[in-house]
Amino acid sequence: MHADLSDDERDHIPVISTGELPSGERVRELLIEAHERYGSVTTGQVADYIPALADASPDLFGLAVMGVRGRSFSVGDSAVEFSIQSVSKPFVFALVCEALGFDEARKRIGVNNTGLPFNSVMAIELNADRTMNPLVNAGAIATTSLVPGDSADEKWQNVLGGLSKFAGRPLAIDPAVYASEAANNMHNQGIARLLESYGRMYFDPFEATDVYTKQCSINVNVTDLAVMGATLADGGVNPLTGERVVSADTCKRVLAVLATAGLYEQSGEWMYDIGLPGKSGVSGGIITIAPGKGGVATYSPPLDAAGNSVRGQLASKFLSDLLGLNLFASAPVMSALVE
Ligand code: GLU
Repeated sequence: MHADLSDDERDHIPVISTGELPSGERVRELLIEAHERYGSVTTGQVADYIPALADASPDLFGLAVMGVRGRSFSVGDSAVEFSIQSVSKPFVFALVCEALGFDEARKRIGVNNTGLPFNSVMAIELNADRTMNPLVNAGAIATTSLVPGDSADEKWQNVLGGLSKFAGRPLAIDPAVYASEAANNMHNQGIARLLESYGRMYFDPFEATDVYTKQCSINVNVTDLAVMGATLADGGVNPLTGERVVSADTCKRVLAVLATAGLYEQSGEWMYDIGLPGKSGVSGGIITIAPGKGGVATYSPPLDAAGNSVRGQLASKFLSDLLGLNLFASAPVMSALVE
């Protein structure tokens, strides 16, 4: 693993959030530095349990930041498209919160961490509420089943349209990834069927799983992810288009769920290191949201054992530290007088 920041470097980083992203020049400089610093890291494995994902080059590495005032920065492979996978989950949950209200959404899905892998059947069996949160597969498929629409196609159109509004451009499905995942999603179908047996599936389980599989196959680039994150950071208004996508109340709840469960069973480690809500996906994307400031996104396919991008986590930590984004960082207000 590549060396982390040295103590000397740590002494020179801003420990607290500034309330704003730093100057454009500084953000650009830090993105370039993160890209150089972690580009040579070669640990991690590209996901292959969905055969089409295994084709991604392990060398791809893109970083992007989008500020809530509309400033946009990117470096590396920022135009390369990849399937959004699990990074779609918080956005579909946001759409469902809008449709049902966030209290009803909590009742029907749950908002607690499972402590178990993303596609765990044991998590369903061990928890009385069965679905625990919208970010692991059980809760995510149940969430997709709650998307407005009388037919699977209407639900799919609402998912695609909703995620496109978050990204600020019309998104499209990657047909090869969809076909590959659809041919291999018996496990997710099993989860949906199990939830149905517990009364926690709100549409036909196979159709809901199919819409979920399409949702995971929507193509984005790392800049899209930064814009999507920035929309959650900006009280639900897309800073690129100026369009309100969801309410500020919904954003607050989505970010809370991300804070507890965004990085699979490593969510505690992520919060400890990065101090911000985030979400990763098996194709190698990670979004990080700095509320009131902007979205940070990384793309690099090699993953660690929990399924989180190795370079993405390193770069996200570097950027959270050096951009002064960590939500838990503070300095004594009287320190100027004490010192
Ligand atoms: N489509 C993937 C699945 O359900 C999403 C996994 C992920 O990104 O965590 O297996």
